[in-house]
Amino acid sequence: MLETAIVVKVNEGLHARPATQFAKLAKEFSCSLQIFRGATCADAKSAVKLMLLGVKQDDQILLRADGSDESDAVRRLLQFLSEPSAGVSLAGHDANDRLVEKAAAVEAGSRADADKPQDPRVQEPAVTEASVRGVAASEGLADGEAFVYLPEALRATRQFIEPDEVEGELARFGVAFREAIAALDSQFETMGQHDDIVEALTDVAQSDEFSSAVKDRIASGWDAAAATLQVGEELAAAFLAMEDEYLRSRADDIRGIARQVALRLLGRDDVSLASLSRPCIVLAADLSALDFARACVANIVGLVCIKGSATSHLAIMARAHGIPAVLGLPVADDRLREATTVALDGAQGQVWFDPSPELQADFAARIAQDRRRHAALSVYRDVAPVTRDGRHIEIAANLGSLTEIDAALEAGAMGVGLFRTELLFMDRRTLPDEDEQYNVYSRLAEAFHPRPVVIRTLDVGGDKPVPGIVFPQEDNPFLGWRGVRMCLDRPDVFKPQLRALLRAATLGNVHVMLPMVDDLDEVRRVKVLLATCAQELALEGAAYAMPKLGIMVETPAAALTADLLAPEVDFFSIGTNDLTQYVMAVDRVNPNLAALYRTDHPAVLRAIGMVCEAAKKANIRVAVCGEAAARPEMIPVLIGLGVNELSMSPSSVLRAKKIASEL
Ligand code: PEP
Ligand code: MG
Repeated sequence: MLETAIVVKVNEGLHARPATQFAKLAKEFSCSLQIFRGATCADAKSAVKLMLLGVKQDDQILLRADGSDESDAVRRLLQFLSEPSAGVSLAGHDANDRLVEKAAAVEAGSRADADKPQDPRVQEPAVTEASVRGVAASEGLADGEAFVYLPEALRATRQFIEPDEVEGELARFGVAFREAIAALDSQFETMGQHDDIVEALTDVAQSDEFSSAVKDRIASGWDAAAATLQVGEELAAAFLAMEDEYLRSRADDIRGIARQVALRLLGRDDVSLASLSRPCIVLAADLSALDFARACVANIVGLVCIKGSATSHLAIMARAHGIPAVLGLPVADDRLREATTVALDGAQGQVWFDPSPELQADFAARIAQDRRRHAALSVYRDVAPVTRDGRHIEIAANLGSLTEIDAALEAGAMGVGLFRTELLFMDRRTLPDEDEQYNVYSRLAEAFHPRPVVIRTLDVGGDKPVPGIVFPQEDNPFLGWRGVRMCLDRPDVFKPQLRALLRAATLGNVHVMLPMVDDLDEVRRVKVLLATCAQELALEGAAYAMPKLGIMVETPAAALTADLLAPEVDFFSIGTNDLTQYVMAVDRVNPNLAALYRTDHPAVLRAIGMVCEAAKKANIRVAVCGEAAARPEMIPVLIGLGVNELSMSPSSVLRAKKIASEL
């Protein structure tokens, strides 16, 4: 018997793909192989057991081998474990990372749309009819046929089978299993996410812990469907108990596969959004980002969902695709099931089930009017708004990922007023390194060149988990260790971002913006850090340039001391989403306080006025990049107070250009 201790160097540890490849390698040897992590031990030939062991990069583990080829096995496996890129299929990313990244990428950075998308000029329906109110998640009107998406829950009620039925049941399981994997394969192929995702999912499905466990159950007298669902549940529960958030989320994959196999065994079809063959309004209790990604989106003309809030993934995806949506609708599943037609107003959060012919006619007229209005706005694409008193107003776009660049350019955005970098850091296993960030920032800057792009440094706190940053449990995360406060405490996180920004600044149009600034000292400390990064880059012979440095004014402290901050920075951008929350002491995501969450409250307007005044005195530009910048009734107010630039989601740019041009 051989025993060797080793520190694991595999990037991100033995998660799905490396664990699978490690187990595959281990199976090439006849000796028994075990891995010990602390007091726990796993069979090295089982990918799932290895995953459940939760071995991380830099963990010390013990490899035990016992058998004739033990020395060969130990040599090969140690080599695997000491190789950082072992088992990685895609430049450091697991296939499933790409899936979540894709979902995050669709997250169109348009969180700003979440709060109040209402256009007061949208007419109320002429016909009054009882409606249900939910969360206004994506503006727009829709009326049409309902497509009820309520996948039925499958229960694992065990049917006893006789010993002579086992063989047949095993064969049925084999066929259903192969069909489910093949279907998954073609589904992902359509999504353009082929091999890696399917491979990662099938690895788990084909593992002994899944397929052999199902077969064992069948052999002991369970019917195949119940055995499949039961094993799926047990395996999912084991993943759910993991510390690592990424591995925990594999539980859904396992349940999904078990469900697909069981449906085939039961001879049932799953309701699928992929099969939408004509324009429909989708009614669902819950929809995951994956459901949405698999759907035939072109045929979804509206979306109604019992779960979800204005800032949920689903709302963001609906906005990104321009689909009117009402989420968080307080109705029971049955209400959805009974509906055949639906009308909805995404800006008002209103839904009418089975509307009358009069209401439908009214909707048809309003939808046609909306289309005409939208088409008419396209003439503003190349307009650079100038007010009657000669002030040039910039209308820029808020973006969260590179996928939104085309929509912003198409809408005539005059630059990027806010690039939220946190999406780059979320929904993944490790922090993005300097080069990855540099690539993203420079591609953004190139796309808009020579127009300015304002890139905000990482703005996260305990409410949004990010890998590699352990946030303390806080009673009030919105008042906690977040934004620039956290970044200044974590130079290991902050410096790669600053270095990437300095390098991208050589393009000439990159501006850097700091979130959640309270105090002058924070700005000065960032400047020192920027100078240190610049010095390091110079020593390394890397090209860099000093970008313009601005701050978000989104805390009352920053607004009240704007006169002290202005001489230290190159520009201000007022984050009205947070400024309103902090000035009014109203949680921006609490629907019960929506009436008090008012950017047009005199207290908030006074704060904005003070900031504009200080910017004018210091001769620096002032923008607004919170949701208020897109609201038609707020645009004249903000411009009147002295704001030079309004930045918003691309879908609002044309309307804002028109309003600003007419002032
Ligand atoms: C804001 O607070 O207004 C803002 C634009 O930032 P975020 O919505 O990302 O907090
Ligand atoms: Mg903010």
